[in-house]
Amino acid sequence: MSKHTAEVVICGAGIAGVAAAYHLAVKRGLKNVVLVEQGDPLSLTSDKSSEAYRNWWPGPDGQMIALMNRSIELLEGLARASANRINLNRRGYLFATAEESKISLLAQSAEQAAHQGAGALRVHTGQATTYRPSLPEGLEGALDGADLLTGAAIHRHFPYLSPRTKAVLHVRRAGWLSAQQLGMYLLEQAREHGARLVRGQV
Ligand SMILES: Cc1cc2nc3c(=O)[nH]c(=O)nc-3n(C[C@H](O)[C@H](O)[C@H](O)COP(=O)(O)OP(=O)(O)OC[C@H]3O[C@@H](n4cnc5c(N)ncnc54)[C@H](O)[C@@H]3O)c2cc1C
Repeated sequence: MSKHTAEVVICGAGIAGVAAAYHLAVKRGLKNVVLVEQGDPLSLTSDKSSEAYRNWWPGPDGQMIALMNRSIELLEGLARASANRINLNRRGYLFATAEESKISLLAQSAEQAAHQGAGALRVHTGQATTYRPSLPEGLEGALDGADLLTGAAIHRHFPYLSPRTKAVLHVRRAGWLSAQQLGMYLLEQAREHGARLVRGQV
């Protein structure tokens, strides 16, 4: 019977396992990392995701925003290193309300998030000529924080929304990516740096 040894054994090759393998093998230079996966890599939960991300987690404190800012920084680094093979974009999230009374709640949550590190709130009324729409693709020059639009500004920039819409909050450090491509990139890089994928059950 052959004997196999490893410095680190990772259970499961979902996105968490391949990310751990990437960081240990590529970033920390560990030579003998083994991923043990009972099925196919990235095929259990990690291929069901909506593939969205955001740094928008207001309250009760700034911990989630700090965690997500750091995670998004890592994603941006991977996007740049891979010529954006992971299709990371910064289209943002749009929260809309048709209720006048909710405008102040949107503004309060954005001010709280700004205070906790999500980036500044910009408020636009009237025609909102200073509001900058997101680019459909890519990251460069993207804004953070959020934009609150009310009145005519909404229909100028979001003509597809119901005319009853009273306010929209456009959260900027948010968007979509290909989680499958992200996983494959991390796994390929880890394997190029010596990590091994073994089919089996821990
Ligand atoms: C419908 C849906 C939408 C989602 N949308 C988003 C989103 O928009 N944004 C976001 O960030 N997250 C989203 N998520 C969450 C995200 O997809 C998961 O948090 C993530 O995929 C979990 O990855 P994982 O590696 O921890 O788990 P998994 O992908 O489940 O990987 C675990 C792996 O371990 C293997 N395994 C388990 N036990 C053993 C064992 N004993 N031996 C060997 N192998 C084993 C399994 O076969 C599996 O491949 C969504 C999830 C769902 C279900």
